Amino acid sequence: VIGMSVEEYRQAQAEAMTEAQLQAAIIGTGPRAPGLAQRLGWLAYHTHRSDRSPAGFPDLTLVHPGAGRLVFAELKRQKRSNPTPAQVGWLDALERVGDRINDDLYHESAYEPLAERLGRVSAYLWRPLALLDGTIEGILRVS
Ligand SMILES: [Mg+2]
Repeated sequence: VIGMSVEEYRQAQAEAMTEAQLQAAIIGTGPRAPGLAQRLGWLAYHTHRSDRSPAGFPDLTLVHPGAGRLVFAELKRQKRSNPTPAQVGWLDALERVGDRINDDLYHESAYEPLAERLGRVSAYLWRPLALLDGTIEGILRVS
């Protein structure tokens, strides 16, 4: 560790984190062990066994009832792990739904500030670095 910068240390931490550890940090491991998402007021869904379901649906579905937001996230290790074509297909499709919803709201309600119309539905690919550098918390934090 001697001689490592903060960034190098964080990168090394990220590369050592498994997808299961990343998931546990975000949605916890059960009712008594909530993750970041639940602590910020989100309901979290994860399909425990997806082997008999259509391929590629994102690992996490998060809903914030108060804020009226819906987030989909595919989780991957930091390195040597890329989304499958089926996963990319779902993320792209879900992201496009978000864009359309935002566009619709833009045209319907001219009175709300822009920030409140953005990101009601969004889809992400999250790796450990996004957890460690605060990116995920920034996305999930509801003001
Ligand atoms: Mg995954």
